Order: sequence, then structure tokens, then C-alpha cells
Amino acid sequence: MWQTNLQQLARDHLLRELSIMDSACSPVMSLNGQQTLLFASNDYLGLANHAYLKQAAVRAMTQFGIGAGASRLISGTLTPHHDLENTLAEFFETEAALTFNSGYAANIGIIPNLIAPEGLIFVDRLCHASLIDGCRLSRASLRVFRHNDIDHLQSLLAKHSRKGPVLIVTEGVFSMDGDLAPLPELVRLAEKYDAILLVDDAHGTGVMGTTGRGTTEHWGVYSDKLFHMGTLSKAIGTSGGFISGTKECIAYLINTARSFIYSTAPPPAMSAAAQAAIHLIQEQPERRTRLWQNRERMQQSLTGMGYQLTKTESPILPIIVKDPRLAITMSQHLREKGIYIPAIRPPTVPKNTSRLRVTVTAEHSMTQIDTALEAIEQIGQALKII
Ligand SMILES: *Cc1c(COP(=O)(O)O)cnc(C)c1O
Repeated sequence: MWQTNLQQLARDHLLRELSIMDSACSPVMSLNGQQTLLFASNDYLGLANHAYLKQAAVRAMTQFGIGAGASRLISGTLTPHHDLENTLAEFFETEAALTFNSGYAANIGIIPNLIAPEGLIFVDRLCHASLIDGCRLSRASLRVFRHNDIDHLQSLLAKHSRKGPVLIVTEGVFSMDGDLAPLPELVRLAEKYDAILLVDDAHGTGVMGTTGRGTTEHWGVYSDKLFHMGTLSKAIGTSGGFISGTKECIAYLINTARSFIYSTAPPPAMSAAAQAAIHLIQEQPERRTRLWQNRERMQQSLTGMGYQLTKTESPILPIIVKDPRLAITMSQHLREKGIYIPAIRPPTVPKNTSRLRVTVTAEHSMTQIDTALEAIEQIGQALKII
């Protein structure tokens, strides 16, 4: 059965394979021995290979070893885990925070505890697979609303929300489109219908808001109804997921979130590195300034060339080409020219919306951006996309 599946995927130009990078994550990477400009990572602030984080990790590794040795509730909670959670709580100005092994683990651990099986979940159509999986694990009924369509959500809420607890799920910055959820309106609906609103800010953390606290800061929203989770693996440059909230909420999740309870604690060095990253984000706001300058340049140039981008408002700049084969061809041609931009195809994105997902970081130089732009323009012209 799986052979046929693979053949079918290949025929549909949807087969995916791993590209092996033989260097650390940075704007210039080595791919099969070839120097390649990377416009693909989510390392928005260029922290994944930063010396300050590596030093913090080495110090923690020397003191606390490699593995945590047990789950958090057994003997796996080491000082670096505790310190990171305090730092996150301070950064997000909440009473407490809780970390998980990944953003994926956070979502599948959190969602089933925000809603009962007899409840009802409303989820944006473009939400990340980890959110969908968390919703499914909750066994609550699931309703999908059109992407960022407040009127559609409101009509569904009006029709269905009378019977039990309600959860609305969205992303602060949508991972494959780079656009923002209208959080003020979502908060208003959550309050009106007495629903909980979960915002997955995987791509907003460190990127959005004047101090990098994410989309809630960007929009200036605050509500008892709003739960805010994120990941440490994108702009924070490390690995892991988190949720920030009240002491009571965190105590509840410590006792109920299965992906937290039944999984070995993260490597202590990773937590120490993440804590260092939060400090750096606070100390060096100029990183975010550079990120946004790079983002503006890339976005304006791509649009100027005649490319159709999504309604992005973030450093994620997807070029819509629709046809998966065209997306692959473009990505391959770029790769031959030493530029790595991945083709994103279904099932990651809806049918007929295949795209090249360009991401920029604070570490890209103007020269690197201009080199990529020149190649993207040439290929678009050669393939008659622009
Ligand atoms: C990447 C991502 C996750 C998963 O985070 P990891 O730390 O990589 O597991 C969750 N939600 C969204 C929206 C993401 O983009």
C-alpha cells in the first residue's frame, strides 16, 4: 500500500524529500558541499547559531549534563527549566509559564485541556497541523471557519455556541501565509460568546510587537479569555514550546497535559540557551529593526517585479505560483543558482496555492538579499510567471 502511495505522490509532484545541510543554520549554508544562500528558515533573529546562546548551552551542559534523565514530574525538572519558565513569565508579563519539548507537543498537550469532549472548537481553516491534531485529541466537535473571516466565525458561533464550552483556535502569524489574525475582533467574539481563544504565536514570538512579545503586543490585546502559546524553535533560535498564563492555569496543565507529563524533560542546555535568547531579544532590539528592514526590502522588490504574494504582514513572504510542478521547478532552478527557497505544496497548503516560501532574517545582508532578488526575477521571467 505504501509503495502505491509513494508512486502517486511522485506522479502528483507532491513527493517530499529531505535536504541535508552540512553546516549550522545561517544565511549561508552548505548544501551537498555547495555554498547556498538560505531564505527558508524561521530563525528570524539569527539566534540559532549565536555565540551567546551556545556559551549558555555549554555552561549548562557542563553543570547539568546532556539528558534530563526523567520527565518533569519525576526528577527531570532542573534549574535551567525553572529559570527559563520564570524568564518567559517575566517577558510575557504573566504569573507563570510552562515549557514543552516542542511547539507541537505544547499544542497537543494544551488543547485537550482547554475544552471538554462535549465542547465545540472553531478553528481557522489555515491553522497548523499541530493545532488540528490537538483539537482532534480533545474529542470535542470541530467547526472550521474561513481563513480570518470574522463574519463567518460569528455566524457559526451564533448558530452553535449555546450548548457547551467553546474554544476558538487561531495563529497570531499564519505560518505559510505570513498574514495576521485579527486578534482584537477575535477577542471581542470570545468575550461575547464566552469562549476561550487560543493564539498560537509560533511565528509572532520575538518578531511582532515593539518589544518582541508577539502578536498580542502588536495588537495591544489583553483578555482573561485569551491563551497565548508559542515556540522556542523559531525566532528564539532553540527548541521547545511554551504557554504563558496564570499560576492556576500552569498548575492545571502540569497536572493534565499528557505531552508534558509523559515525556522526558527537554535537555537542560536547550532551556539555558532559550533563556539566553530571551535576554538577547530584550538587550538587542536592533535585531528586530534589521529583520523588518530586510523584510521591507524583499517584500517591496518582489511585489515591484510583479509577483503575487499573500497578504503577508510578517517576514514570511510567500510567492504564490499555484501549480505544485511550477513551484518545484522554480525552487530547483534557484537551488542551481545557489539560493534555497522551498516549494510549499499540499497538504501543507490548500490545493492550487503552491508557493515559494521566502523568509528573511535579521542576519541577511543587503547584498545577499539583492543576489536572491536578481535570481528570483530572472527565473520568474524565464518561466513567464512575471
Ligand atoms: C512551527 C509551528 C509549530 C510547532 O512548533 P515546533 O516547536 O517546531 O514543534 C506550532 N504551530 C505553528 C503555527 C508553527 O508554525
